[in-house]
Amino acid sequence: MENILKNSVGTVKGIGKATTEQFEKLGILTIEDLLYTFPYRHEDFRMRDLTETPHGERVTVEGRVESEPTVFYSGKNRSRMQVRLLVGHHLVKAVFFNQHYLKDRLVTGMQINVTGAWDRGRQSITVNRLHTGEQTDFEPVYSLKGIMHQKTFRRYMRTVIDLTAGVIEETLPQEMLEVYKLPSITQALEMVHFPTKTEDVKHARRRFVYEELLLFQLKIQGMKKLRKEQEKGLVIQYDLDLLKKFIHTLPFELTNAQKRVVNELCAELKSPLRMNRLLQGDVGSGKTAVAAIALYAAVTAGFQGALMAPTEILAEQHAELLANWFEPFGVTVAFLAGSTKAKARRELLERLEVGEIDLLIGTHALIQPEVQFHKLGFVVTDEQHRFGVQQRRVLRDKGLNPDVLFMTATPIPRTLAITVFGEMDVSVLDELPAGRKEIETHWLKEESLIPVLQKMEKELRAGRQAYVICPLIEESDKLDVQNAVEVHAELSNYFAGRYTVGLMHGRLPSAEKDQVMREFSEGQSNVLVSTTVVEVGVNVPNATFMLIYDATRFGLAQLHQLRGRVGRGSDQSYCVLLANPSTEEGKMRMQSMTETNDGFILAEKDLELRGSGDIFGKKQSGMPEFKMADLIHDFKALSIAREDAERLLNSDAFWTSDEYATLRERLEQSGALTDKRID
Ligand code: ADP
Ligand code: MG
Repeated sequence: MENILKNSVGTVKGIGKATTEQFEKLGILTIEDLLYTFPYRHEDFRMRDLTETPHGERVTVEGRVESEPTVFYSGKNRSRMQVRLLVGHHLVKAVFFNQHYLKDRLVTGMQINVTGAWDRGRQSITVNRLHTGEQTDFEPVYSLKGIMHQKTFRRYMRTVIDLTAGVIEETLPQEMLEVYKLPSITQALEMVHFPTKTEDVKHARRRFVYEELLLFQLKIQGMKKLRKEQEKGLVIQYDLDLLKKFIHTLPFELTNAQKRVVNELCAELKSPLRMNRLLQGDVGSGKTAVAAIALYAAVTAGFQGALMAPTEILAEQHAELLANWFEPFGVTVAFLAGSTKAKARRELLERLEVGEIDLLIGTHALIQPEVQFHKLGFVVTDEQHRFGVQQRRVLRDKGLNPDVLFMTATPIPRTLAITVFGEMDVSVLDELPAGRKEIETHWLKEESLIPVLQKMEKELRAGRQAYVICPLIEESDKLDVQNAVEVHAELSNYFAGRYTVGLMHGRLPSAEKDQVMREFSEGQSNVLVSTTVVEVGVNVPNATFMLIYDATRFGLAQLHQLRGRVGRGSDQSYCVLLANPSTEEGKMRMQSMTETNDGFILAEKDLELRGSGDIFGKKQSGMPEFKMADLIHDFKALSIAREDAERLLNSDAFWTSDEYATLRERLEQSGALTDKRID
């Protein structure tokens, strides 16, 4: 049968050119678009008993008109009209503002239904709706931006629903409608656009949410499956004995989570499937060691590896650490960043191209066109949320289809991660190395820093170090924020003769940055005043104290990242947040920070407080937009849909049976599958 859903709304009898244009302005082109334009709320017109209605609330009542309307005019088109109305045994006043044109309709003795605000003291209803004709209990309200009247819109909706009722195809398999007790597509459309009771709306919503999420999951999982089938990756036959030896030389025993993830990574490296994996692990969970082991695995198999970090400081720290760990194993590690001098750089690139370098570590300098690898097999990017999708692809494309691991400490709730990074596999380091103590976090509003500085000094006296974080580096931003330079001057003054204070910010030349960072990590400076450049990855286990200025300027995820710079050794660490939030949300954020050290709990809190968009940045993340579903509120439906999608994609029936034909079709339309799979 011809699919009329894809026809223009203009083809519907009664919808003319002008109306079609109005619809167009609302983004409604086809009949299907119209059907799937859902109301954003429903008006409740159910009758209420006046004696039980609190003062000020809206009521809808039926009553008999007991008096002729009296009208007082107070200007052009301004009026106040009043009739007496007998509602049950209750005589009340019905007051109409600026609706005197209704006067002739209000005939003594007739029954009318009105909706309005109930004034208990005056025993009156300020009417904003006189129901004429058939009255519905619930009325949908659409977002029409003043382009069309609600009533007109509903009329067209009625027409289109009636028109399509017999022909619209059910997307969901019967089995699912039954198991989840969901209304059919025809029923659901009727229920959401013309509900007769509140449950209708809820019921319909459940169906549309599930449908959307199922399709979405089928799509991303279908793509993942397809990618695995079509894009064969490398078989990285690593040397298990060498790998074991390497693991034994590490200065610590791996946590169980690290062991598990290492196994996951190794299995995937060895398999012909191409790795496209996200490694999530809270700050301090030991992602670097995991990456190092996997990188070494690739090297033992004769491949080159690359490790990319978002900042030069971090990249260099990785390079130093890994060079150290790998030294006894004869792995050649090189570091490349924007600051690498021309000559050194040329030399490095030559050696890289002939394969003399096993492991290249650096910033995004790694993805410039001149950088050519000899045999790139495995790429790790640290703190991947800092990299654009494009950059990631460029790097990936440099090698022979290398396996790629993205690491992030942004603790995204797992269900959401699977959704957002849909086409990636996800590994999680959900365990911190033993002996870590919770970072004691305090939130201070006071201006006086003396007690904080005294506390800091106590740590310094014990040989520990401290970070002081300031949000911005320049006063020119006209924001009333502490300036790192100024804070540095003040603290240098305060600690003069006792402790050394370093200064780090993004505007320093890289050589100087390196110098500052080295001094701090080697313990030559005791306090480091810094902007958020130390946010990611930097590892100085001897630092036990962190003071964050203007903490309200940071999101929860970022605060958590920052705080993760301390508490990296076995000593008790402290974090002090200076903040005077003006909003409830800001207060909740500070409160949450003091209550938990668990990044996943904070991430969920953040989601709750700000919605998911803020965390990922709506545009960049490719977060899907849904008509009905809400990734936060429909979490449960999301995981159910995910499991169902997985089961379906792995079943033969899904690919062959008629029952799933519409679902397959919808999926195909979304471009998720090639024709190869479906004939
Ligand atoms: P992140 O996951 O935040 O990148 P790192 O890899 O920097 O964490 O590790 C944080 C600290 O924990 C480092 O000092 C590292 O040497 C140490 N570490 C890593 N794994 C273990 C372990 N299994 N036991 C003890 N310490 C560990
Ligand atoms: Mg790290």
